[in-house]
Formats: sequence, structure tokens, C-alpha cells
Amino acid sequence: MVDIQACLSQAEKTCRLQGLIRTTKRKLILTALLQVKKAVSAYELVELLETQFKESLAPMSIYRSLAFLEKCHLVHKLNIANKFVACADIINEAPHKTSQLFFCQLCQRVDEVKLDATKTSDLDNKAKQFGYQILSSHIELNCICNACLR
Ligand SMILES: [Zn+2]
Ligand SMILES: [Zn+2]
Repeated sequence: MVDIQACLSQAEKTCRLQGLIRTTKRKLILTALLQVKKAVSAYELVELLETQFKESLAPMSIYRSLAFLEKCHLVHKLNIANKFVACADIINEAPHKTSQLFFCQLCQRVDEVKLDATKTSDLDNKAKQFGYQILSSHIELNCICNACLR
């Protein structure tokens, strides 16, 4: 089990890449995601790791690593497509508040935009008003990018 709180406090103290990624597997998966620059499924990751790093990992093991990376705010799961994408904000030490993911359903390109503070607190307030606490790290938008429209 991953201790999320420990991950978070560690992330606040040190660079997240140095402090959190201790196993090579996780590092490889994150590297592959950062390199591919689009959303990929766990099965696509199996192929990516084989072709780029000559590593063969079972899908189950990839899912476990992805779940860990997601908890550490290094990777986001795009639920609309059941794919994964590296967080665009990894460089920053503290995890971001809610961000917005634009996802092109044709080429799988993803752009992540941080919501500004007023929007985030607006969402938080609305959620509170209705008796919720937001757990999602992001909002997903199904899109078609300009390149695919042409
Ligand atoms: Zn992010
Ligand atoms: Zn596209």
C-alpha cells in the first residue's frame, strides 16, 4: 500500500521525481509517458516499453505502477478514454489543484491547463454547498484538435 500522505509531504520537500520514484519500473513508465506526449492505455504502454526500453512488463504490473504514479499526482487517468497521461505540472514540487484536460479523441493528444484559483474555489464551494468534497485531480473534456479537424 502506498502512503499517500507520505508521498505528498515528500513531494513538498523535494523534487517529486527524485523523492518518489524509487523503482525502475515506475521510472520507466513515467519516462515513456513523458516521451510519448499523449494519452496511452496500459496495453499501449506494454508495447511502448518493449520497443523503447526492451522491457517486457505484464499489464497488471503496469496498472499497479500507474495507480501509484496517479496517487503521487505524477500521472492522470483519463477516465473518458481509459488512458493515462503524464501530469504537465510534474516540475512543481507541490501537486496542483484541479486542472483541466483537453483530450483529442482522434489523435489522443492531451493538453493540461491549470484552473485559476477563483475557478477552483468556485468549484470547491459548489461542491460543499451540495455536500461533496472533490477528489478528482482534473476535469476531462472530450475534444477534436485543430490538426485533426483539418
Ligand atoms: Zn496535472
Ligand atoms: Zn487530434
